[in-house]
Amino acid sequence: QSKETLDALSAYEWLTKLYHHLLRHTKEGKEGYQYLKDRGFTDDVIDTFQLGYSPNSKDFIVEFLEKKGFHRQSMVKAGILSSNEDNVVTDRFRGRVIFPIRNHLGKTIGFGGRTITDQKPKYLNSPESELFQKGKLLYNFDLARKSIRKKQEAVLFEGQMDVISAHKAGVMNGIATLGTALTDMQAKLLRRYVDTVIICYDPDNAGFLASFKAAKLLKQVGCAVKVATLPNGLDPDDYIKTYGADRFHHEVIEASDTYMTFMMKYLKKDYNLKLEGDRIQYVENVIDEIALIERPIEREHYLKELANEFELSIETLTQEVRSRNEKIG
Ligand code: ATP
Ligand code: MN
Ligand code: MN
Ligand code: MN
Repeated sequence: QSKETLDALSAYEWLTKLYHHLLRHTKEGKEGYQYLKDRGFTDDVIDTFQLGYSPNSKDFIVEFLEKKGFHRQSMVKAGILSSNEDNVVTDRFRGRVIFPIRNHLGKTIGFGGRTITDQKPKYLNSPESELFQKGKLLYNFDLARKSIRKKQEAVLFEGQMDVISAHKAGVMNGIATLGTALTDMQAKLLRRYVDTVIICYDPDNAGFLASFKAAKLLKQVGCAVKVATLPNGLDPDDYIKTYGADRFHHEVIEASDTYMTFMMKYLKKDYNLKLEGDRIQYVENVIDEIALIERPIEREHYLKELANEFELSIETLTQEVRSRNEKIG
């Protein structure tokens, strides 16, 4: 690790403590604390996730870092401080509640900052660096690892709020990709620990598409995949707040769809199944997916479902699957 990386690590460690202290114990952090309280965070959860607040001050953090011996310019380079057009250096995250982003060893390697007003952008993350590479890490993996291993199952969320809310609701094996698409590297990392991943993204178009892509990728690396469905535009955090932990467990996590059921639903959205041409194309699409299933029993199960829904013979569908696998094999 370069000197710069070591410096950044050390600065992140100091700042994690400082932001957290400011939030919990000072009047400078009151606004941030109130924001989290209004969103249902308990002190316990705030401590577990080391949440903090960066006061809306021009130089408080800058001076703190200088007193600790960090150079302004190297902190700017590390993306911890930011410098505007007039070369005025300020804290990148000021006025935001801070979510330390920890690596698998529990060390802070970046921050996510959420505004407590309606300022844009809603979230600001540390920039990519040697230390902080979003595509390689999974938020909360360090805390969730034990539960993930034990259950052989992980629940994949979009963001910090969902992971933390789920944790509070007793879902200890939650992790998140921080708003970006799941990468091959993250999928492979997960595969080393689990058999099954339950995807629990937001129920909007972006989340639906991201679920589809993540499901494909996880399947490719050999995970069993399930996809949870949430109602009426409520994301996991909203759902837990509205309906409580119990219903989240039973009606969302435990009721999540299998990969194939999700695919059959997902592929439908591009077709008007009242039209003959669309019906045929949809069936072809689903058969492509069924042809990838290895267990004969499972394959037959979905072929029957498809045959029933579209009034086709199971023989024809089986023939279609066979011809696809001959082409591949
Ligand atoms: P909240 O409940 O506070 O609105 P959220 O997690 O529901 O948060 P989403 O809009 O669903 O927010 O975004 C999911 C995740 O994507 C966030 O947790 C964050 O990590 C990331 N994200 C969202 N907006 C941005 C942004 N403008 N820049 C970078 N990352 C973002
Ligand atoms: Mn979202
Ligand atoms: Mn959301
Ligand atoms: Mn949310």
